[in-house]
Amino acid sequence: MNPIIIIGSGLAGYNLARNLRKLDKSAALTIVTADRGEFYSKPMLSEAFAAGKSPAMLVNKTAEQMGTQLGAEVRTNTNVRHVHPGNHEIELDDGRLRYSKLVLALGADAIRLSIAGDGAVDVLSVNDLNDYTCFRAAVSARKRILILGAGLIGCEFANDLAGAGYHVDVVDIAPQPLGRLLPPAGGEILNRSLASLGIGWHLGTSVQSIARTEVGCRVSLANGETIDTDVVLSAIGLKPRIALAASAGLRTDRGIVVNRLLQTTDPDIYALGDCAEVEGLVLPFTTPIMHAAKALAPTLAGKPTALRYPAMPVVVKTPACPTVVAPPPAGMAGEWQVSASSDGVRALYVDTTGRLLGYALNGSAAHENHALTAQLPVWLS
Ligand SMILES: Cc1cc2nc3c(=O)[nH]c(=O)nc-3n(C[C@H](O)[C@H](O)[C@H](O)COP(=O)(O)OP(=O)(O)OC[C@H]3O[C@@H](n4cnc5c(N)ncnc54)[C@H](O)[C@@H]3O)c2cc1C
Repeated sequence: MNPIIIIGSGLAGYNLARNLRKLDKSAALTIVTADRGEFYSKPMLSEAFAAGKSPAMLVNKTAEQMGTQLGAEVRTNTNVRHVHPGNHEIELDDGRLRYSKLVLALGADAIRLSIAGDGAVDVLSVNDLNDYTCFRAAVSARKRILILGAGLIGCEFANDLAGAGYHVDVVDIAPQPLGRLLPPAGGEILNRSLASLGIGWHLGTSVQSIARTEVGCRVSLANGETIDTDVVLSAIGLKPRIALAASAGLRTDRGIVVNRLLQTTDPDIYALGDCAEVEGLVLPFTTPIMHAAKALAPTLAGKPTALRYPAMPVVVKTPACPTVVAPPPAGMAGEWQVSASSDGVRALYVDTTGRLLGYALNGSAAHENHALTAQLPVWLS
């Protein structure tokens, strides 16, 4: 019998393997990964500087330890070039492997802006442990960092790097931080809290060019400002890795399209994690991954199990202003009801009947998240 093959050793791939082993101790299992296959918590990457954590300190287990624990063969530094669904084969740089079932847990790529100037090629992003290693090397003995993007990851890095003693500037085209997740009053308190750490906001504008200078680079903004900095970190979002699936003839849209069984348009190929799109939802967060891994494991073990999503709030790791958001499901009509105090904002998104659909909590209001989450509708029933 050919093994079940999982491509990807991130939270999605390894969590699925763990859940599968709880149900089936003997199925042959192979994990193929382009990276070193180390198990680490990716969310730690945006809170590791202030905590003084080196890349090695973030590794919980090596690939070898994971292989032993999971009873799996873990093939590291191995890029999958093609999937051949007709033959049940994947093509590697140096050969082919046959699978019984295949799982794509490929993650997402950091989006790169096309920016003018000779300094644009030096822009870094941090989307995995290897990126973090490169970023730490780039900023060691440096003092100034400019972050592109005031979304979740940009705000977290801003807080963390300011906490580690860096001078941080943040540029975003939106007029407030976390523009897609917080109503204006919530954005305002986050803005103030991070500004109190010395973070310089450059909002409602964009980067036009980045020119190398002798010591770092000069960033020119559309509003006419120029900022001298040492390193530019881009945190403007992720795009699911869909190329492998698309070239295999599987249906893709924003992500690799799967049904509630996490099954692609080929019945023996599944997808989960940052690369997958379930009923129009692309949710690049850890909680959806845990639910997907728990549902897919019994399906692979022979008991088809549909994915269900409860409401899944996201904790934003900005200790200067604790923030928890539960965005309302797309397309659900309602309005924000905002109550603000000097040290917190409580914003509830409710429909015309008063039913709670989502929330955004900052500062002193953040601790209300558990009670409010219990009132939210499920995201996939
Ligand atoms: C800085 C940062 C902070 C975050 N903070 C939070 C947070 O606080 N809360 C939260 O919920 N979420 C957070 N997230 C998101 C969360 O970490 C991700 O949703 C999750 O880790 C994605 O896991 P994954 O397994 O889908 O993808 P990945 O971890 O990206 O794994 C993808 C795997 O696929 C492999 N791969 C890809 N293509 C190939 C190929 N062709 N051949 C072989 N192998 C391949 C890669 O090598 C890798 O092993 C954060 C993300 C970042 C970047």
